[in-house]
Amino acid sequence: MIKKSLTFVAVTAIGLSSAMFSSMSLAQQKFVTIGTGGVTGVYYAAGGAICRLVNKDRAKHNIRCSVESTGGSVFNVNTIKAGELDLGFTQSDVQYNAFKGDVQFKSAGAYADLRAVFSVHPEPFTVLARKELNAKTLQDLKGKRFNVGNPGSGTRASMEELLLAMGWKLTDFSLAAELKADEHGPALCDGKIDGFFYGVGHPSANIQDPTTTCGAKLVSVTGPAVDKLLASKPYYAKASIPGGLYPNNPDGAQTYGVLATVVVSAKTPADTVYQVVKAVFDNFDEFKKLHPALAHLKPDQMIKDGLSAPLHEGALRYYKEKGWAR
Ligand code: GLU
Repeated sequence: MIKKSLTFVAVTAIGLSSAMFSSMSLAQQKFVTIGTGGVTGVYYAAGGAICRLVNKDRAKHNIRCSVESTGGSVFNVNTIKAGELDLGFTQSDVQYNAFKGDVQFKSAGAYADLRAVFSVHPEPFTVLARKELNAKTLQDLKGKRFNVGNPGSGTRASMEELLLAMGWKLTDFSLAAELKADEHGPALCDGKIDGFFYGVGHPSANIQDPTTTCGAKLVSVTGPAVDKLLASKPYYAKASIPGGLYPNNPDGAQTYGVLATVVVSAKTPADTVYQVVKAVFDNFDEFKKLHPALAHLKPDQMIKDGLSAPLHEGALRYYKEKGWAR
């Protein structure tokens, strides 16, 4: 009898302490969500790579990282600002305009609490067209059915800056579609649109699919309007997509582009950002192997190029420890 009740007490004690322990570790566990883009783009894969490295060391820092597929750059910045995303990918032009309250952020005003973490891969503005069109430059798409990107994407924001510089309106296309990036390749191969514009890293599954499935062709984005943008906007640079990178495209394309960057709110705790940055740079060789668009990254460029918002203090702490920043 006595023995029985003792056993009961012991079991209860163990049950209680493990319940206490798991609720304690749940309370300490931090969840970090990274906003990306469409699942066929590079943001989603690069975000997955970051989270994989963060989660590898979860036992040490108790941070659980996950990615979310989103509408893209502008959506990510706005959602971080609203406190509903921790980190997010954004094009360097969108980062610049959000921080300064310029162009597409004029009515929202400057987002002074926006902070940079690092930049990632180059994103050349990529125009893909149906092969029957024989298009050589974006000008050949005038009057055609063209996907200008979904509102909230960086693609759409940059497209609008380009159209303005060219003196074109959406009505210069017979149809200006607003499909999401995951939908534009299938729409092109199904004959529903003639071409699309997309700011994306290379190689990308998103471009690989339509160039393979229906022989879609890369089209150059060059000319006086692009030259004007290159001369007047600090965030744009000339870029090219090499020939032979994609099937049926031995010639590649000349264009211009931006850098992909990762941003966060100044309000995000320094320790959280520090752990994310540490996971990437402590495992840098592994990080570069997780997607071919990340293969050529260099830390010294990633901590300064394409960043117009100040570095987040958690990121800066790691860069100082490494002797990369002062
Ligand atoms: N740069 C694109 C955008 O913000 C997204 C590219 C990607 O998902 O890789 O719209």
